[in-house]
Amino acid sequence: MDTATTMGDLSPEQLNNFKERLLAEEQKLLGELKTVGRINPSNPGDWEPVPENIDVMQADKNEAADAIEEYEENTAVLRELEIRYNNVKRALKKIEDGTYGTCEVGGEAIDVKRLEANPAALTCVTHADSLRPE
Ligand SMILES: [Zn+2]
Repeated sequence: MDTATTMGDLSPEQLNNFKERLLAEEQKLLGELKTVGRINPSNPGDWEPVPENIDVMQADKNEAADAIEEYEENTAVLRELEIRYNNVKRALKKIEDGTYGTCEVGGEAIDVKRLEANPAALTCVTHADSLRPE
Protein backbone atom coordinates (compact mmCIF):
# COMPACT_ATOMS: atom_id res chain seq x y z
CA MET A 1 0.00 0.00 0.00
CA ASP A 2 1.41 3.35 -1.00
CA THR A 3 0.43 5.46 1.99
CA ALA A 4 2.90 8.20 1.14
CA THR A 5 0.80 9.41 -1.77
CA THR A 6 -2.68 8.36 -0.66
CA MET A 7 -2.40 10.22 2.64
CA GLY A 8 -1.68 13.46 0.85
CA ASP A 9 -0.42 16.23 3.10
CA LEU A 10 -2.13 15.09 6.26
CA SER A 11 0.13 14.81 9.28
CA PRO A 12 -0.41 12.08 11.90
CA GLU A 13 -1.67 14.82 14.24
CA GLN A 14 -4.25 15.96 11.71
CA LEU A 15 -5.35 12.41 11.07
CA ASN A 16 -5.71 11.82 14.78
CA ASN A 17 -7.73 14.99 15.13
CA PHE A 18 -10.06 13.97 12.28
CA LYS A 19 -10.40 10.50 13.75
CA GLU A 20 -11.41 11.87 17.14
CA ARG A 21 -13.96 14.18 15.55
CA LEU A 22 -15.34 11.30 13.47
CA LEU A 23 -15.63 9.03 16.51
CA ALA A 24 -17.48 11.78 18.41
CA GLU A 25 -19.75 12.34 15.40
CA GLU A 26 -20.38 8.60 15.15
CA GLN A 27 -21.60 8.48 18.76
CA LYS A 28 -23.75 11.57 18.30
CA LEU A 29 -25.38 10.21 15.15
CA LEU A 30 -25.92 6.85 16.82
CA GLY A 31 -27.79 8.60 19.64
CA GLU A 32 -29.93 10.52 17.14
CA LEU A 33 -30.60 7.39 15.09
CA LYS A 34 -31.93 5.65 18.18
CA THR A 35 -34.53 8.39 18.69
CA VAL A 36 -36.17 7.78 15.28
CA GLY A 37 -35.31 4.22 14.43
CA ARG A 38 -33.91 0.89 15.43
CA ILE A 39 -31.45 -1.54 13.91
CA ASN A 40 -33.16 -3.86 11.48
CA PRO A 41 -33.28 -7.21 13.36
CA SER A 42 -32.67 -9.16 10.16
CA ASN A 43 -29.89 -6.86 8.89
CA PRO A 44 -27.64 -5.32 11.59
CA GLY A 45 -26.11 -2.94 9.04
CA ASP A 46 -29.46 -1.37 8.30
CA TRP A 47 -31.73 0.98 10.23
CA GLU A 48 -35.47 1.09 10.01
CA PRO A 49 -37.89 3.71 11.29
CA VAL A 50 -39.65 2.90 14.52
CA PRO A 51 -43.14 1.77 13.56
CA GLU A 52 -45.97 3.65 15.17
CA ASN A 53 -48.59 1.72 17.03
CA ILE A 54 -51.56 2.85 15.08
CA ASP A 55 -54.83 1.11 15.39
CA VAL A 56 -56.30 2.40 12.19
CA MET A 57 -59.71 0.94 12.85
CA GLN A 58 -60.06 2.57 16.26
CA ALA A 59 -58.05 5.76 15.99
CA ASP A 60 -59.86 8.82 14.85
CA LYS A 61 -59.01 9.85 11.31
CA ASN A 62 -56.92 12.88 12.31
CA GLU A 63 -54.95 10.94 14.88
CA ALA A 64 -54.12 8.26 12.38
CA ALA A 65 -53.10 10.88 9.82
CA ASP A 66 -50.85 12.58 12.40
CA ALA A 67 -49.22 9.30 13.32
CA ILE A 68 -48.60 8.42 9.69
CA GLU A 69 -47.17 11.87 9.04
CA GLU A 70 -44.85 11.53 12.02
CA TYR A 71 -43.76 8.12 10.83
CA GLU A 72 -42.98 9.54 7.39
CA GLU A 73 -41.02 12.38 8.96
CA ASN A 74 -39.07 9.89 11.06
CA THR A 75 -38.35 7.90 7.92
CA ALA A 76 -36.93 10.95 6.16
CA VAL A 77 -34.84 11.96 9.20
CA LEU A 78 -33.63 8.40 9.61
CA ARG A 79 -32.51 8.11 5.99
CA GLU A 80 -30.57 11.37 6.29
CA LEU A 81 -28.94 10.31 9.58
CA GLU A 82 -28.15 6.88 8.18
CA ILE A 83 -26.34 8.38 5.20
CA ARG A 84 -24.28 10.64 7.47
CA TYR A 85 -23.61 7.78 9.88
CA ASN A 86 -22.43 5.51 7.07
CA ASN A 87 -20.21 8.27 5.68
CA VAL A 88 -18.60 8.73 9.10
CA LYS A 89 -18.01 4.98 9.41
CA ARG A 90 -16.59 4.90 5.90
CA ALA A 91 -14.25 7.80 6.66
CA LEU A 92 -13.04 5.99 9.81
CA LYS A 93 -12.42 2.87 7.74
CA LYS A 94 -10.43 4.96 5.28
CA ILE A 95 -8.23 6.26 8.10
CA GLU A 96 -7.51 2.62 9.02
CA ASP A 97 -6.88 1.70 5.40
CA GLY A 98 -4.62 4.68 4.81
CA THR A 99 -6.80 6.16 2.08
CA TYR A 100 -8.37 8.94 4.13
CA GLY A 101 -8.33 12.36 2.50
CA THR A 102 -8.53 11.14 -1.08
CA CYS A 103 -11.56 11.73 -3.31
CA GLU A 104 -13.59 8.56 -3.87
CA VAL A 105 -14.53 9.66 -7.37
CA GLY A 106 -11.35 11.07 -8.86
CA GLY A 107 -8.74 9.84 -6.37
CA GLU A 108 -7.22 13.29 -5.87
CA ALA A 109 -6.41 14.73 -2.45
CA ILE A 110 -9.33 16.40 -0.70
CA ASP A 111 -8.66 19.98 0.41
CA VAL A 112 -7.78 19.97 4.13
CA LYS A 113 -10.12 22.92 4.66
CA ARG A 114 -12.96 20.79 3.35
CA LEU A 115 -12.04 17.97 5.72
CA GLU A 116 -11.85 20.43 8.60
CA ALA A 117 -15.36 21.61 7.77
CA ASN A 118 -16.58 18.04 7.35
CA PRO A 119 -14.22 15.23 8.38
CA ALA A 120 -16.64 12.73 6.82
CA ALA A 121 -16.26 14.23 3.34
CA LEU A 122 -15.55 11.40 0.91
CA THR A 123 -14.98 13.49 -2.21
CA CYS A 124 -13.28 16.69 -3.28
CA VAL A 125 -15.44 19.79 -3.86
CA THR A 126 -15.56 19.19 -7.61
CA HIS A 127 -17.00 15.72 -7.19
CA ALA A 128 -19.22 16.53 -4.20
CA ASP A 129 -22.38 16.03 -6.24
CA SER A 130 -21.32 12.97 -8.19
CA LEU A 131 -21.23 10.63 -5.21
CA ARG A 132 -24.77 9.77 -4.23
CA PRO A 133 -25.45 7.03 -1.78
CA GLU A 134 -27.74 4.59 -3.57
ZN1 LIG B 1 -12.69 14.43 -6.89
